[in-house]
Amino acid sequence: MSEKYFPLTKPELDKLAQKYPTPFFIYDEKGIVENVRRIKAAFSIFPGYINHFAVKALPNPYILKILAAEGFGADCASYSELLLAEMTGIKGEKIMITSNETPANEYAAARKLGAVINLDDFTHIEFLEKTAGLPELVSLRYNPGPLKEGNAIIGKPEEAKYGFTREQIIRGYALLKEKGVKRFALHTMVASNELSVPYHIETARMLFELALEIKDKTGVRLEFVNLGGGVGIPYMPDQTAVDYAFLQNGIQKAYNETILSAGIDPIAIRTEWARVVTGPYGWLVARAIHKKEIYRKYIGLDACMADFMRPAYYGAYHHITVPGKENAPLSETYDVVGSLCENNDKFAVQRRLPKIETVAECYADAGCCAAENCLCGDFVVIHDAGAHGRAMGFNYNGKLRCGELLLRQDGSVVQIRRPETVEDYFATLDLNSLKSF
Ligand SMILES: *Cc1c(COP(=O)(O)O)cnc(C)c1O
Repeated sequence: MSEKYFPLTKPELDKLAQKYPTPFFIYDEKGIVENVRRIKAAFSIFPGYINHFAVKALPNPYILKILAAEGFGADCASYSELLLAEMTGIKGEKIMITSNETPANEYAAARKLGAVINLDDFTHIEFLEKTAGLPELVSLRYNPGPLKEGNAIIGKPEEAKYGFTREQIIRGYALLKEKGVKRFALHTMVASNELSVPYHIETARMLFELALEIKDKTGVRLEFVNLGGGVGIPYMPDQTAVDYAFLQNGIQKAYNETILSAGIDPIAIRTEWARVVTGPYGWLVARAIHKKEIYRKYIGLDACMADFMRPAYYGAYHHITVPGKENAPLSETYDVVGSLCENNDKFAVQRRLPKIETVAECYADAGCCAAENCLCGDFVVIHDAGAHGRAMGFNYNGKLRCGELLLRQDGSVVQIRRPETVEDYFATLDLNSLKSF
């Protein structure tokens, strides 16, 4: 079981929404920091352990700065993400670039920052050499293909576009060594949002065994293995969070039985976790504006899948609560929807929820919604939106993405990204030229 919490009471939210109108994302700094410290405590047994937070999950420099202060690095896959790492003080080998189909300018930028470059393909060895030059340290991404089962989000490794085959990766290290590379690392990412601890332990064991084979066949001794991201979170209340100590224990046992017993220790361990770091500590807060009853009952929000697309994209479950109605009976069945002209713009389908009051009902009944500071219309809180949330948003239908707030450890709230404006939407168009067009 996982406890679904929201850090603000209804009156606190009422007050906040006066200053920052819905919809908005809000992140809980205390929750994130305490979680980061639990991860570090569990993995401190591995000397040199670093988690490179995958920037794509929550690309906000304020959040990255909090993570950097706790010693986390960054995992980047584009030029903009490298800039985000740089501007938050994440430096050198604390940055890992695990990209694919990487253009020359991104390799050059990564080289300039001294980031660890994690190559996605055999042909990129030469591409990197010709475009940016080979650095002292190179990491290679392994795709085990049929040797490892995949999961729902990433799919089967065999069908995934990432990484080197086993045969290629052995040849890859041999070639790098020949070309004068001095330090080596190994990476894989075979699953996403995977809650099974044994699955992750098996992935680690697979990499450790590969490290032995690499040593045997090429003489290359790895400096670290990066287990990638992919640790799941309990989106559904009846799922259980990954137990970090249990995971660490299993990885350590696998390490002892392979790396240690073969005498090729020490090899450091790194990860690229993101979802499990911030996911449960972010929420999308929207307001219920309309209610309609046709063949089903619908609650229409002031947010839509342009703000948050996991439910529509993956059919993902996201828990929903209604502040102030935490203990109310779940008497209704609704589809909770956004305003996009796409029928999959649904945050929840046939979900049991308390009876929700909307802004439109207020207009019709009390009329106070015409006043600026009316508190009518229930808040609808979408949980576990702290990773792969706003970042996946888009501007289809001319929708403007909402902003981001941070609940500080002292209880204050700061805006860490303003909502988009219509000027932002038109910013890439030359509207002066349009007049004479
Ligand atoms: C997306 C991604 C991650 C982060 O995955 P989570 O599931 O959020 O932990 C890490 N590494 C790579 C290469 C990724 O593409």
